[in-house]
Amino acid sequence: MSNYFLNSGNGSLMAEVAAIIVENKAYLSEIDGKIGDGDHGVNMAKGFSRAAGKLQGEESFDQSLSVLSDVLMSEIGGSMGPLYGMFFSDMADKLQGEESIDAAIYATALSAGLKGVIEIGSAKVGDKTMLDCLVPAIEEFEQTMAGGGDFRSALKVQVTAAEKGRDSTIDLVAKVGRSSRLGERSRGVLDAGATSCCLILSTLATGIEARLG
Ligand code: ADP
Ligand code: MG
Repeated sequence: MSNYFLNSGNGSLMAEVAAIIVENKAYLSEIDGKIGDGDHGVNMAKGFSRAAGKLQGEESFDQSLSVLSDVLMSEIGGSMGPLYGMFFSDMADKLQGEESIDAAIYATALSAGLKGVIEIGSAKVGDKTMLDCLVPAIEEFEQTMAGGGDFRSALKVQVTAAEKGRDSTIDLVAKVGRSSRLGERSRGVLDAGATSCCLILSTLATGIEARLG
């Protein structure tokens, strides 16, 4: 059983994520509508489907993430465009030139993406954003690796952590972004960005697992 997946020819991973985002378009907008302006699913589905439509089918994983990032940064508004645009751009930079992607390289790429999101968004864990999903998901992935776990088990742990992080946003009050204007009234519902982040990480995990052979 291999402990890595090939970078080349795996742009289809990004297309799989795009399909899940499109499937969840109405759901993500519905969540955003409760404490935001209800456009998160529409923005996400537009960006991800446009990017997937630009793939020729032979791209490497990192190339497909660059395509996605370009579309998100230049064509998609809201908070999501620049934030996820930066996330995927910094991920792609770390993966570029790698022939095979193992758990350590994947963790490095996710961490670089996280750093990019924090640099432009200045949010932190507990602010009721995508970071409440992303940060614990990366941390628990790294902890599993440090404890001797393989790529597959680290991905499993990551998905559980992402789901837990997403659900933790229900009890939080939004401190940044549009929904922060609601103050206490933002408590009691999921954060849209944490929900889309969980979908992205889970779909990547499933797709990577299938490619580990
Ligand atoms: P907008 O709020 O501009 O309509 P979206 O609906 O596309 O943008 O995205 C909203 C999501 O963006 C929120 O649910 C939250 O997770 C995320 N978000 C907003 N501001 C930040 C920030 N500064 N850092 C990280 N994530 C953020
Ligand atoms: Mg919105």
